[in-house]
Amino acid sequence: MVRQYVPTMNSFSQLQLAPNLAKAVAEMGYESMTPIQAQAIPVVLSGQDVMGAAQTGTGKTAAFSLPLLQRMLKHENSSTSPARHPVRALVLLPTRELADQVAQQVKMYAKYTQLRSAVVFGGMDMKPQTAELKKGVEVLVATPGRLLDHIEAKTAVLNQVEYVVLDEADRMLDIGFLPDLQRILSYLPKQRTTLLFSATFSPEIKRLAASYLQNPVTIEVARPNQTASTVTQLFYNLPDDDKRRALKQIVKQRGISQAFVFVNSKLGCARLARSLERDGLKTTALHGDKSQDERLKALEAFKKGEVDLLVCTDVAARGLDIKDVPAVFNFDIPYNAEDYIHRIGRTGRAGAEGLAVSFASPNDVRLVTDIEKLTKQKIELLGFDFEDDRPAGRINNGRRHWDDEDSSSEKPASRSRFVPPPKVHDPFFDRPYEASAEPVNTAASPEQALSNSRSISPNIKPKRNVAALFKTTEPG
Ligand code: AMP
Repeated sequence: MVRQYVPTMNSFSQLQLAPNLAKAVAEMGYESMTPIQAQAIPVVLSGQDVMGAAQTGTGKTAAFSLPLLQRMLKHENSSTSPARHPVRALVLLPTRELADQVAQQVKMYAKYTQLRSAVVFGGMDMKPQTAELKKGVEVLVATPGRLLDHIEAKTAVLNQVEYVVLDEADRMLDIGFLPDLQRILSYLPKQRTTLLFSATFSPEIKRLAASYLQNPVTIEVARPNQTASTVTQLFYNLPDDDKRRALKQIVKQRGISQAFVFVNSKLGCARLARSLERDGLKTTALHGDKSQDERLKALEAFKKGEVDLLVCTDVAARGLDIKDVPAVFNFDIPYNAEDYIHRIGRTGRAGAEGLAVSFASPNDVRLVTDIEKLTKQKIELLGFDFEDDRPAGRINNGRRHWDDEDSSSEKPASRSRFVPPPKVHDPFFDRPYEASAEPVNTAASPEQALSNSRSISPNIKPKRNVAALFKTTEPG
């Protein structure tokens, strides 16, 4: 049986949220629900399990937090006794940054209630986390590894959990968290509501859902492998040595206030950030070699607008939710086409318009073809028109005329003139959600889930190592 929910409303006022939650939502300035919210909130309020295909940026945090908070209001109390504030909702996420961001959102939605929330993730001292847990919290947001540390230390007690959210489940499996998730889920009461969100419904995700969700309602708002149509995507054909100059020009010409700049290596990341900084652009680098503290500081500075360009690698950027980034640059074309989708998902969020600019050098033809195949869109490689167009290699007073100090290229920039494509208005966020006619996930068993998944995307390949782990696992 296909269990898909078709919403009939898209305004928060129609939800009849408790006044203390409605007030917080109004303060956030949200006018109408995003499609995932319009679909998921009523379903979660009704107590059913959910399997949601939604990417970060679709408003899914509010889609699960608001109804869970509403359902937990019956436990609200002002007692100072920790025993009166057991963990009732557990939200699991793959990265520290994402956990931090979700926790911040939950705190904002719950600010007029007496429900408490806390976040625990690795790379930080356990003591302050322990102190907070000991006081008692109703909503615990966590990354799996650190949560297990707290379970072992008996500072996180999960025997009264009623709601579990597995957020960005595909990434948790990619990172190899499956065994940790299985252990954590084994500590939880069987009688509970479980919500699973994932950008894609890969075979592993379907197996996870089949093992841990009960008769879930499937909700899908952005089909896998799709890029948001609110994002204008431009690809420029540029030799490596001209990329930095092109980036500076685009930022200046288009008056871009903030952007993510993606590179493929940690070394390239640090080098590019340094040279952009020297060029007078407020830049910071975010890569795996930075300490957790440095990463959070870089993120905070970017969020506060103290930094214009955040140069980062895919691993460092995983799960970052920074609202309204006007542009994303792919300074390097990603090796993995799926990373292209994740990268440009940083812009054009929640219906806003975004710009994604990619620089492809002549060596990147295969990578660009991979993106074309995955996104099923034809990519036109444009020539770049430099503002200060001049013959390459012109000598001025014995020095190069321009300041491109890293440049060793003598090649002239391509001269073809680019005419921007007309902006396409995406009615996606204007109209109420209409459920897909196709059954998406109605699997009654892992095997059926696996066979159903074949219709999702030929580009999603089963990962044998993860699948193998499932074979030894009892459904929880
Ligand atoms: P998420 O997908 O939960 O990471 O949310 C992405 C961003 O959209 C967050 O910064 C939210 O604050 C914002 N957001 C969530 N719901 C809405 C809404 N209904 N209207 C406008 N913005 C929203």
